Amino acid sequence: MKERQILLFYKYVHLENPEAVRDWIFDLCQQYNLKGRLIVAAEGINFTFEGAVADTEAFLVDMQKDERFHHIHFKRSVGTGEAFPKLSVKVRDEIVTGNLGVCDIDPNEVTGKHLPPTELHSWIHEGKEFYIIDMRNAYEHKVGKFAGSICPPLENFRDLPKIIDSIKHLKNKTVVTVCTGGVRCEKASGYLITQGFTDVYQLDGGIVSYMELYPNEDFEGKLYVFDRRLMLGFYTDDPKHKVIGTCDHCGAASEQFINCANKACNKHMILCDQCQTDTIAKNGARVCPDGCKDNTSFWGKIKKLWKK
Ligand SMILES: [Zn+2]
Ligand SMILES: [Zn+2]
Repeated sequence: MKERQILLFYKYVHLENPEAVRDWIFDLCQQYNLKGRLIVAAEGINFTFEGAVADTEAFLVDMQKDERFHHIHFKRSVGTGEAFPKLSVKVRDEIVTGNLGVCDIDPNEVTGKHLPPTELHSWIHEGKEFYIIDMRNAYEHKVGKFAGSICPPLENFRDLPKIIDSIKHLKNKTVVTVCTGGVRCEKASGYLITQGFTDVYQLDGGIVSYMELYPNEDFEGKLYVFDRRLMLGFYTDDPKHKVIGTCDHCGAASEQFINCANKACNKHMILCDQCQTDTIAKNGARVCPDGCKDNTSFWGKIKKLWKK
């Protein structure tokens, strides 16, 4: 089989006609047999896709014939051909879902200073005073986070204004925002600046870039990702790898996310091996061990709809 790779990148750039960009990108993807999730918006692009190495590189060359897509930092990782079930190229209102209307920030105008992973690494190891603020959602930092980082309980990116009070004591400190691939921090760090934070950095290329350089060092556990791989563990057989997630049912150490097999419930939870075996024995499928109360009751459904 041909060698495959996964590419991940974004750019905030004003696009006059996102539909035209989408059509053009869609044709390019088909030409090179790429699969993945590509989002185009008036504010920019956010692409993750997989294909044969030569094809993905040819795609980049073609894409950069358009000068709006110059100066992009590309993240490459080894692919298996399985990361994405299909090709999806969509026009959306925003390139990261969930911050519409709240964080009306244009990162081309206001955003945190970009801090390369190597620099963050020296900051950590030379004992500089600074604070890491994790901008991912709560379920993501349940299985992995920077040691000592501040993880506000964000259920969704649009909750950012709600948690600002809990970190306002850091306004005059040095803070570094982190997220998976860096795109969320472009706006999150800008938002902190508009809220009066005075020394704001963002981790360049996100946690992915840091973990690649320093596996099992300062970021503990696994990194949650949004494709079929679900979580990236870097050298999880390394004795230094620390499991920080806990089973939502029994509290045992575990980093296995599953979705409840009951389609009406579909609860996203961590369930350890033992609890999975038990619930299969008892209920015939991998479902909520104590029944699907939270999500299938009348009020649970209303709450779920409300969150969407
Ligand atoms: Zn358990
Ligand atoms: Zn359930």
